[in-house]
Amino acid sequence: MALYADLHRHLGGSVVPRVLWRYFQRHEENLAERFPEYAEFEEFYTRERTSLDEYLELHTLVESVQTAKTLPYFIYRLIRGAYIFENLAYLELRYTPYYRTDEHLSQSERIEQMRSIVEIVGLASRVTEYPIVTGQILCMHSRLPYEVNKAIVDLAVEMGDYVQAIDIAGGDSHYATRLDEFIGLYRYALDRGLKTTGHLYETRDGCYPELLPYLQRIGHGIQIPLLYPELLPELAERKQCLEVCPTTYLKTGTLESLTQLKTVFDRCFEAGVDIAICTDNAGLHNVRLPFEYENLLTLDVIGFDQLQACQDAAFRHAFAWPYGQRPASLLTGLLSVTNPKLPLYQ
Ligand SMILES: [Zn+2]
Repeated sequence: MALYADLHRHLGGSVVPRVLWRYFQRHEENLAERFPEYAEFEEFYTRERTSLDEYLELHTLVESVQTAKTLPYFIYRLIRGAYIFENLAYLELRYTPYYRTDEHLSQSERIEQMRSIVEIVGLASRVTEYPIVTGQILCMHSRLPYEVNKAIVDLAVEMGDYVQAIDIAGGDSHYATRLDEFIGLYRYALDRGLKTTGHLYETRDGCYPELLPYLQRIGHGIQIPLLYPELLPELAERKQCLEVCPTTYLKTGTLESLTQLKTVFDRCFEAGVDIAICTDNAGLHNVRLPFEYENLLTLDVIGFDQLQACQDAAFRHAFAWPYGQRPASLLTGLLSVTNPKLPLYQ
């Protein structure tokens, strides 16, 4: 069995529609009344949006029910689904901890509460019966003030047992006026040993070359090979990896067809830039990681060799995977031990 790694998955978008709808029926009277039928809810939840901003609005629906009290409920189901249906051996979860705190508290109290949110997510991700190596990435957010984003970076540094990296999210068109601020925060994070990724070059309005030198991985980054391929040698030199999340670009209206990704993969392979294929919001899209792989193969965007290279890259660029190789190499070892006289089919 092949085991996979997903490097880009949002906690908010990771709840599959069936789990969320059932949660409403059990615990949220108002939302249960708004969506009495599952089919109607699934249609609303997973339909394509016309822009990234409209798509991100949907996250607030999930964020409103993911609180300190309910997070273990959702994370247990997330880990169970990832283990059973997606064969994940490794998963990095990302979220903005501030948006999981109690909105009735003051800003400083909410900052204080972020610590327990990180702990709850970390503990809930360790499920004995569904073992997956997990990591956390804390997202700064373009809608949050500097003090909160700085507190998010500080928290990531302090909680190194749970958190490996920081990210910037909230729609890449909104960073323009605060670029210096975000560069400063990334510098601050790198100086303190944190790893970095960032939602960038996802849309045509989110292309900021100034931020690139501070990122170890690039969240999406598809506009680089599409519009600015001249930047690719720099990315290869810095050993940066693109986190490409195919279904997202259809749901946000960024691409019309996944076949447009062929240029992204071809140019990156040619330039020696790694790509990890990820889900972004597997629940919101109702598309799990193996189906992202299969869709790309079916549409001839990539072949099996390229898929394997991307799967290898995912483990290589994982922030919290403690081994040099992907888990399949361990199974290959076991396979030759079972009957060493038989050759392995090459
Ligand atoms: Zn994302």
